[in-house]
Amino acid sequence: MKTIRILGFWICLALGLGLGVLAQRPPAPLSDKAPPGAFSAGRAMGDVRVIARRPHPTGSAEIARVRDHLLTRLGELGLEVSMRPGEGQAAYSRDGRALGVAAVQNVVGVLPGRDREAPAVLVMSHYDSVSNSPGAADDGMGTAAALEIARALKTGPKPLRDVIFLFTDGEEVGLMGADAFFARDPLAARAGVVVNMEARGDSGRVAMFQTGPENGALLALMARTAQGPSANSLASTVYEKMPNHTDFTHALAAKRPGLNFALIDNQLAYHTPLSTPERLNQGSLQHLGDQVLPVVQALARETALPPKAPNAIYSDLLGLILIHYPAPVGWALLALAAGLIGFSAVRAIKGGATTPLQLARGLAGSLLLTLAAALVLHLTGRLLAVDSGQRLYDILGRFDLLLWGAAALGTGAGLLIVTALARGSRRLWPSLLALALGGACSLVGGFDPVGLGLGAVVAVLIWACLGPKTGVMGVWLGGLALLLLLSTAAQVLAPGATVMLVWPLLVASLGAALVLALGGTRDRRVALLLTLAIGLLAALTTAQVTAWGGWTFAGIGLMEPAVLAVFVLLATPALVPLAFDFAESPWGWTGVGLTLATGLGLCVAAGLPAASPERPNLTEAHHLSDPGAGKAWRVSTLPQLDAWSRATLIGDGGLDPVRQALPPFVNDPVWMSETRLVTVDPPSLGVERSGERLLVRVIPGPGAEVLTLKIRANAALSDPRLNGRPVTLASQPGAWSSVTYFAPDPNGVTLSFTTPARGRIEAAVMEHRDGWPGEARAPSAKPSDLMATGMSDKTAVIARASLGW
Ligand SMILES: [Zn+2]
Repeated sequence: MKTIRILGFWICLALGLGLGVLAQRPPAPLSDKAPPGAFSAGRAMGDVRVIARRPHPTGSAEIARVRDHLLTRLGELGLEVSMRPGEGQAAYSRDGRALGVAAVQNVVGVLPGRDREAPAVLVMSHYDSVSNSPGAADDGMGTAAALEIARALKTGPKPLRDVIFLFTDGEEVGLMGADAFFARDPLAARAGVVVNMEARGDSGRVAMFQTGPENGALLALMARTAQGPSANSLASTVYEKMPNHTDFTHALAAKRPGLNFALIDNQLAYHTPLSTPERLNQGSLQHLGDQVLPVVQALARETALPPKAPNAIYSDLLGLILIHYPAPVGWALLALAAGLIGFSAVRAIKGGATTPLQLARGLAGSLLLTLAAALVLHLTGRLLAVDSGQRLYDILGRFDLLLWGAAALGTGAGLLIVTALARGSRRLWPSLLALALGGACSLVGGFDPVGLGLGAVVAVLIWACLGPKTGVMGVWLGGLALLLLLSTAAQVLAPGATVMLVWPLLVASLGAALVLALGGTRDRRVALLLTLAIGLLAALTTAQVTAWGGWTFAGIGLMEPAVLAVFVLLATPALVPLAFDFAESPWGWTGVGLTLATGLGLCVAAGLPAASPERPNLTEAHHLSDPGAGKAWRVSTLPQLDAWSRATLIGDGGLDPVRQALPPFVNDPVWMSETRLVTVDPPSLGVERSGERLLVRVIPGPGAEVLTLKIRANAALSDPRLNGRPVTLASQPGAWSSVTYFAPDPNGVTLSFTTPARGRIEAAVMEHRDGWPGEARAPSAKPSDLMATGMSDKTAVIARASLGW
């Protein structure tokens, strides 16, 4: 019994971690023999394989093939099919001097409902990929899922309202298709609710990570219908503050309610050649359909779409069910927790189990425990030094090592403080160590005030609450009081964020109240049941916190590993009574040391450079031709050349690569190697005056995927128009402005301005086409531990013109 008590912490931790990991796994995919009314990943994979055969960025020849496939499939499904050509725009800089534009070809299939006037359900995905990625997940998965959902809906009774399946073009280059649709397509007015499907990785569970305002009724519908739902309102709250965007951004801007789904595991495959149909996790695709099909079905059948209702606080519980409630219920839960904590504290003090001073030290100790974990994890993040794409992919390749390493470091740091509280400890050396760790954060990547501040606060807290022993009740109830304070603050500031705080708080408060109500019992059976109950609550809380923490770490852990400290805090109240038993045992300090050493070892392993065929790193090299200047280069935008890119740069009679800029297109120096000039037809660029107007006209060469037009005048330019239509493009005498145009019309693109009577303008255009120039020597095949990214293996060609008037 004594051994079990000592090991209880580890047993519950292992159980909780195991359950949490299981809960994070997607369901098994259904085969193509699944019943016709069901969503089958096996069936959807047929479309993924066609869509993701090759990279298909906007403007490429491949995207036309994908579009044809979509049109054919929608026709086969018997939907009302239409192509909706349009123009999407996006500001590419804050000063307004860089504009992105794309000629987009959105594809729409409408499944007609009984009431054609009723507001429709819009199911959205994008059918373009980035260059150099087949895009099986992003967004072949969403596109194929939409087709499978359309098929499944057709097998049921005719829906009440229309379901519009929108496949947008140009998402990857600035949400162009969605802009064109929501800003200018008359069909957009018919959309009453939007469901978007996205990917930022290629495996794991698909989460509903973003919704709109007044979502209460919509969340209730999702909770009622989605199978194995994944969602939580803290994620949505955090996502709103991040600079990430999907097509759903335009739906929200157009005041449409809706749900945005995405997966985020294995980001090594995000926007890379690894995102192939073979590697796509079919369970993830199944999980997407399991949630979206029933939601769309319900939305399409109900007589009224979910009305506006106060925002919900929501979370899935271990991926099984979705709990949701309005903010006032959050207050009631907090009041309940406060009551339980108050009852426990009074009983504990009256019974002599703790004192107010011990409670205060326990509260400060719980804060110390959290911040100590944050300090260690923040330092880990600093030392990993993710300062470039190459470095990022090194670590993404070993992301699981980092996740488990960070989890072990966070656990070890927490256990360290618990042990110090339980056994008593010195204060001088630990506080100096904390300051040193805080200072060490500035060793890599420059001065780091965050690390230094964390180190200082931890040092102060060590003086405040370490030293003599603190009893278990003081730490347990003090920790609960801390969580109660934080939950209350969150309930005031961002109610959606409370979902992760309040449930671990409530469960642990219940456990503490049970112990204090029954703790003195002489009945051994009651005592045993109580121990089991505390263990069960600890394991379940750890499981849920693991599921939340794993998902959150996948989202932002590489940016800031210290985010895991939040989950250390959340698991603490449930685990602290068990951790105390271990901390007071003879193995207390050994356990702390082993846990920290394991974490350190895993994080070091995660940080070692280790490209392999399974986990390749990024490479990039392309051809750049400036026929007007009689020059050509081979260029790589990598910070550091690898063997392949170096060999490629010098491979066609090139000189040793040097870092240089080529304004106005390349302003920060990149690796360039002057190479043999081969025939590359430039786009035609002309500048002329027509009355008051200045016309800059580009006729792209054959196969142009995108052109970037730059202009710089010494006079004021006003009333900018692109192909005759007004655009928002700022200009300033003496400074460059640019328009990047994707999928340009072969007949040409014209940018025009009204100008004063005299002036002078310089114009330059760079055009990208797929592949290396025909006459150039093709580079050798890439080694299997490297993969192309960005504009790699494309040909860029420049043309220039100027005019004075
Ligand atoms: Zn996408």
